Amino acid sequence: MTTHGRIRLIEDRCTSCMICVRECPTWCIHIEAHSEELPPTTPEAGLGRPGVHPSRGRERRHNVLDSFDIDWSLCMYCGICIEECPFDALEWAGEHVAGTDSRAGLVHDRHTLGEGAAERGQRGQREIE
Ligand code: SF4
Ligand code: SF4
Repeated sequence: MTTHGRIRLIEDRCTSCMICVRECPTWCIHIEAHSEELPPTTPEAGLGRPGVHPSRGRERRHNVLDSFDIDWSLCMYCGICIEECPFDALEWAGEHVAGTDSRAGLVHDRHTLGEGAAERGQRGQREIE
């Protein structure tokens, strides 16, 4: 019998859009994020239009991820979060959730969820080369 195992977060793809949080049927994903202003890439673009700063062009904002947790004691491994993520930031990791002797140990943070993502990226890069 094969298993999907746990879910891996590929953090640099995550935009904190919260779709996975809303679609998860057991509410076991918890995300916190904040919004930050970005400098305009084209200062001249849009000058004189409403909402455009006279000296800096149109202001842009993006979400910054503060925390991303999955509670494995609630997860039923349905894969909906993986299917619904528009940015392919979640994937099956192909390994089991590590055993623990506490309920708190079943809540994995962004660092634990991201384990293996760097190696995966390097492997993908080698396959391209
Ligand atoms: S696999 Fe299903 S239950 Fe588990 S986090 Fe994703 S959507 Fe939620
Ligand atoms: S759906 Fe994907 S991009 Fe959106 S918050 Fe979840 S993991 Fe991040």
